[in-house]
Amino acid sequence: MDLGIQGRWAIVCAASQGLGKGCALALAREDVNLVINARGAETLEQTAAELRSQAPGIEVRTVVGDVSLPVVRQQLLASCEPVDILINNAGGPPPGDFRHWDREDWLKALDTNMLTPIELIKAVVDGMAERGFGRVINITSGAVKAPIDILGLSNGARSGLTGFIAGLARQPSLAARNVTLNNVLPGAFDTARLQKTLMAASRGDSDLEAVAQSRRQAIPAGRFGSADEFGAFCAFLCSIHSGYITGQNLLIDGGAYPGTF
Ligand code: NAD
Repeated sequence: MDLGIQGRWAIVCAASQGLGKGCALALAREDVNLVINARGAETLEQTAAELRSQAPGIEVRTVVGDVSLPVVRQQLLASCEPVDILINNAGGPPPGDFRHWDREDWLKALDTNMLTPIELIKAVVDGMAERGFGRVINITSGAVKAPIDILGLSNGARSGLTGFIAGLARQPSLAARNVTLNNVLPGAFDTARLQKTLMAASRGDSDLEAVAQSRRQAIPAGRFGSADEFGAFCAFLCSIHSGYITGQNLLIDGGAYPGTF
């Protein structure tokens, strides 16, 4: 299927590895020009080189830095004109017990996982509406639908973003102008983040593989997802074929969520 987005420009935040990189690779395969971001320059440049080799016809620009910093967001926006596609992503907040978190911990989580995507969205959606095409995807978490107790900072901040998107996506000034906003909720995907979570669960136990295997068995698909398949799904949501999908929370978790809706 031709996704019809060749020559478009996309910002992909937090894209040097994992799910963000999966999205960048899938968009590159559709010949979308990219501005990618991450905190570490070396890995980001390696990823940019990989993208250029996969899709020699596209332009790939890099912006190093923490996307929760206003100066980094300004650089991202200045490097991508016009922004047709925005993939919001960042590292998730740390796990823990809410009794140990103070106001600063909450502000950091809210800033990174709720307010940063909202600031970027604010900067781009009206231009998208004027031009009659725009796709915004927020990478959130399956924990928005089925909260995980130790991920309270994530549950809280991402739910705030989810509520905001539900209202914004339905504004006729955007929806009727072919600007869609959706949240994609990953379950367990085989990335560095998942490896860290598994190591924490095994508490330094040498039998990490046993922990991973028991986690896989709890997923009806019997495996972890791959960043490539996550990216392919996001690329479809960015395509010309997905203009009637907006304001949705799309779970991609191998059947792990047990509910009907
Ligand atoms: P990852 O650790 O594999 O990759 C994260 C990427 O984001 C890296 O490129 C890192 O450099 C970059 N990054 C992190 N914080 C950043 C920031 N503030 N500014 C700029 N770049 C930043 O993680 P992942 O598994 O790809 O996860 C991506 C998001 O999806 C996270 O928010 C994570 O919590 C969420 N998530 C992941 C899973 C999973 O199973 N992998 C499940 C649920 C939710």
